[in-house]
Amino acid sequence: MTAPVRLDPATVRVALGARSYDIAIGRGLIASLGARIEALRPRAKTFIVTDENIELHHLDAIESALAESAIAYSRIVVPPGEGSKSFRVFEEVCEAIIAARIERGDLLIALGGGVIGDLAGFAASAVRRGLDYVQVPTTLLAQVDSSVGGKTAINSAHGKNLIGAFHQPILVVADTALLDTLPPREFRAGYAEVAKYGLLGDAAFFAWLEANWREVFAGGAASGALAREHAIAVSCRAKAAIVARDERETGERALLNLGHTFGHALEAACGFSDRLLHGEAVAAGMALAFGFSARLGLIPAAEAERAIRHLAEVGLPTRPKDIPGGLPDAEALMNLMAQDKKVKRGMLTFILVRGIGAAFVEHGVDPAQVRAFLSEKLAER
Ligand code: ADP
Ligand code: ZN
Repeated sequence: MTAPVRLDPATVRVALGARSYDIAIGRGLIASLGARIEALRPRAKTFIVTDENIELHHLDAIESALAESAIAYSRIVVPPGEGSKSFRVFEEVCEAIIAARIERGDLLIALGGGVIGDLAGFAASAVRRGLDYVQVPTTLLAQVDSSVGGKTAINSAHGKNLIGAFHQPILVVADTALLDTLPPREFRAGYAEVAKYGLLGDAAFFAWLEANWREVFAGGAASGALAREHAIAVSCRAKAAIVARDERETGERALLNLGHTFGHALEAACGFSDRLLHGEAVAAGMALAFGFSARLGLIPAAEAERAIRHLAEVGLPTRPKDIPGGLPDAEALMNLMAQDKKVKRGMLTFILVRGIGAAFVEHGVDPAQVRAFLSEKLAER
């Protein structure tokens, strides 16, 4: 199976009634950003929120695209990294938006990865009780994950993403060429979330990724461009379908957390540092979720191994020993898990699998079984 050949950019509709919006996906789409915004909000002023790395590589091209359509713009550039999802930077961003005289009817542009999407999206939800915003995601993770569903947040001293809002963008422009400047490790980490969509609900897509992941990573050459675009479009469509049915995560949206309960514990154990990027934690977490599902007899061992093999093949961590530095013991990892929001009456909620492409929510997971499984995995170091 190969990616469909198409000349137009792919468009994914996120169907949320009055809050519906399109995700345009394709190589070089930035050139049309001004025209797209002008079509949606004639004469709106814009305010760009971005970080220093993206400023270096892409801000000029974005501002030229806006200037070409005679769209007024101003900007704030924040330091890269999770540290910018703080009250202090949030305040700076909000004050800068107000100082730039951005009003209802004007537009914010969130130009960046997950950090900028969260920060700018939350500022958009709050300033003047809600401004519209356009998302221009610049990481693979942001293109396939944060660009769909409207979750925005900053961090609290008590934990990540605890202060935020659901606030949908009015348009997402995912230019796959922006990913050419992304450090390879960041691209690979984002790929874990792409593989996740196959693993949780689409076995055919997973098989396609097994055959075509090299083209997705290459991205530049003609066939690579289409493969990358295809992988991003399928991922966005998968998430959009789930979010459309369950916008506020009361049920099915939890499936998107495949690999995230184990992954969160590993990420927390590494102090949410560069030792383990979010996508890397998700890869290791999905490998554990498949291994644990096999242990419970839910899925044949060979099928779990097939899932894990692909993640390892692209260079993602799948075993505790793939994570550099020490990890705490199983009990400590359990505690890091318990601080996550997924515990109910002594039982844990996990996303488990009955096969590749067949994830489900299990509320009654016995913590003792998880602990025993983790102990064994940690002993493999
Ligand atoms: P994520 O989308 O993975 O949550 P971040 O917003 O933290 O990520 O971005 C990850 C890192 O990659 C940051 O250091 C950010 O500045 C940098 N970055 C984001 N997009 C690009 C890009 N297109 N080219 C180069 N670096 C980028
Ligand atoms: Zn994730």
